[in-house]
Order: sequence, then C-alpha cells, then structure tokens
Amino acid sequence: CGIVAYIGHREACPIILKGLRRLEYRGYDSAGVALLNGALNVYKKKGKVNDLEAFIAEKDTHAHIGMGHTRWATHGEPNDSNAHPHYSTSERIAIIHNGIIENYAALKTHLQKQGHVFHSDTDTEVFVNLIEEIQKQNSCSLEEAVRLALHEVVGAYAIVVLSKDDPNQLIAARKGSPLVIGVGKDEFFLASDATPIIEYTNEVVYVNDYEIAVIRDGQLDIRTKEDVQQTPYIQKLEMEL
Ligand code: GLU
Repeated sequence: CGIVAYIGHREACPIILKGLRRLEYRGYDSAGVALLNGALNVYKKKGKVNDLEAFIAEKDTHAHIGMGHTRWATHGEPNDSNAHPHYSTSERIAIIHNGIIENYAALKTHLQKQGHVFHSDTDTEVFVNLIEEIQKQNSCSLEEAVRLALHEVVGAYAIVVLSKDDPNQLIAARKGSPLVIGVGKDEFFLASDATPIIEYTNEVVYVNDYEIAVIRDGQLDIRTKEDVQQTPYIQKLEMEL
C-alpha cells in the first residue's frame, strides 16, 4: 500500500504513476488517482498500476495537482469501487488513505442518518464523508474540517485530501502510517517513503504523528491536530537512485 501526491508546475499524473510503481514493493491489490483541474476526477481499478494506466490512457489526465494510491484491502474486498481515491457524497472532496479506521462502523451509521451515501465497503469512505459533514456543520475551511475529523477517528492513517472548492491546495495528515513531503522549487511531493521523491528533490520533511500538512499557494504549513504551528524540519537525503 502506498501514497503519492503532487502539487506544482509539472504534469501530476505521470509523476504519480511513476511514484506508485516505485512503491510497488509494499504490495497492493488496486490502484487509483484523483486529478484536480477545475474538475475533480477519480480513476481507479482493481489490479496493478499498469491496469490503471491502461484504463486512463484515453481519459483527460491533465492536471498540476493530484494524488495516487495503491491499496492493500483491510475493509471491503479488492474491487474497483473499494479502490481509492474515495469521494465524499457531494463528490467535491476526495481522499486517499493508508491504514485502518477502527471506529468506522459507528461513524458510518451516524453519517448515513445525516444523508451521506456510500459506494464502497471501506473504512476510508467514512473518513471523507466525516470531513464533509464537519465542514458543512461548522462552515469552516477544509483544513479545519480535516483537523476536527482527526479528533473523531480512531486508528491509523496517512491521508491526502483534495477539494474542488480549494483548487490550489493539498492537505495531508498522519498517525501511524508513514508520510514524507518532498520540498522542491515551487513544487511539493508527498509519498509513503522517499523513493518516489528522490529523483526530483533531496529535501524532505518527515510528517510526525498527529500532524497536518497544508500545501497552498506554494507554501507548506504544518500544524499539530491541536492547531499549533510547527517549523518544518527539512532534511537533506543522500540516496542512490
Ligand atoms: N483500510 C483502507 C481500505 O481497506 C486502506 C487500506 C490501505 O492501507 O491500503 O481500503
């Protein structure tokens, strides 16, 4: 299972697919991408990254912001609809997630009562609907909604969230599952480990548990889930390609 995301001046999709291939050693049963380009398009497939690539060959994949995922199923069998990314009910927000949300069943019942509709058997789809519901209830920013959602989920996660309403923003958070940010020149990379990043930049920030990273308008802002701003610790990696 793995995560790759990109925001910057390059085409996002080829970087994401190449990155997912570099994470293949981690094992997976499905793969998918979400690309933000005015529209928020999600393409996902059971199988290998090659199957995903064949599936999207005829689609419009032009975007400078996007994220990709390889899934190792924990909740819901490996199939196309359980593959990530997952949309919220409004299809305005999308998420990728590595890990397990332990209290997803209770959250799902609660969200269904509030009108959220689910298209998968995953714990992850609950997370993105929780974010949407919190944003609606509090009329707050996506960042704030993600932060508040982290107080309600129990389990392990590395997540990346994109919203159609914030077309120049990537939000990521972690607890338990790994997450690294590559800091380039006017571009940022996110991945489960540094292997997809190292060919573009050797400056990385390891996200700590209970931190939220917001990349917006070329700036990286890291806060704890208590909303305390952190100074990103940028490490220089020396790695063989
Ligand atoms: N628990 C999630 C699922 O089953 C994420 C699995 C993963 O880490 O890939 O979809």
